[in-house]
Amino acid sequence: MKILTFDIEDWFHIIRKYPEDILDKWGNYEVRIHRGMDKIFQVLSDNDVKATFFVVGYIARKHPEIIKRIHDMGFEVAAHSDMHKAAYKQSREEFKLDLSDCMKSIENITGEKVISYRAPGFSIKKQNVWAFEILNELGIEYDASIFPAKRDNGGFDDFDLGTPSVIKYKGMLIKEFPMSIDTFMGRKFVATGGGYFRFFPYRLIRKLVNDADYTMTYFHPRDFDPSQPMLDGLSLERKFKSYYNLSTSYAKLRQLVYDFDFIDMRQAAKIVDWNNVPIIDLSHHSNDK
Ligand SMILES: [Zn+2]
Repeated sequence: MKILTFDIEDWFHIIRKYPEDILDKWGNYEVRIHRGMDKIFQVLSDNDVKATFFVVGYIARKHPEIIKRIHDMGFEVAAHSDMHKAAYKQSREEFKLDLSDCMKSIENITGEKVISYRAPGFSIKKQNVWAFEILNELGIEYDASIFPAKRDNGGFDDFDLGTPSVIKYKGMLIKEFPMSIDTFMGRKFVATGGGYFRFFPYRLIRKLVNDADYTMTYFHPRDFDPSQPMLDGLSLERKFKSYYNLSTSYAKLRQLVYDFDFIDMRQAAKIVDWNNVPIIDLSHHSNDK
């Protein structure tokens, strides 16, 4: 099963160390999202493929025509937070308010209930597993926030759940489509999104995807906008993850979508036999902060 997803945010929505300080500057940045969106729409219609779009609420309000187009083309519109803040940096109340603002902004445009979610930067980790309770309260049925390896903004490095799973938390269940993890020369990483997608030659990515039973992808409009300016205040690692080899990424995406049969999360959810997937009980991580 190979799932195609895009996180819909602009080039300046990269999570930085102190996002609180820069939220109010967003209005000053050049809008560049259309450059990447046009390429994404093109590759999907050229290959007649569906994808799930995790949309930031800020984008839904700023560019409702983009959300409308995604929806009109028959693609799933899902939530990716309202203001792209790391989930673990928020209190329960802040997290709930932010996510419901995002969902309302999307639902106002599509007229359809949002049922899928991905946290910005895969930012649900052990310290904020309570987020699953909020997802449940808001009617989210499918989550794609788990990154089953070490990562700066999130990551469950001690969980081995690189396949669809059911997450159990305080008596509630949520269906999880985690990020898929590739292993190459003994190292764990994600080849189907982010810096490594741009770093590795396409033939290696194709081999990894070909060998995997389950592949999750995550791409952004900015991944296909090679002339974007560089934000300041980024770590070296973040610069690599967000900017390295940008000029090659659209050709790689086109080849990837051409070479494999991708589906969106809605379709994947129907195929998975949910009674026969691993159940991950996170209740022992419970804390009521
Ligand atoms: Zn994001």
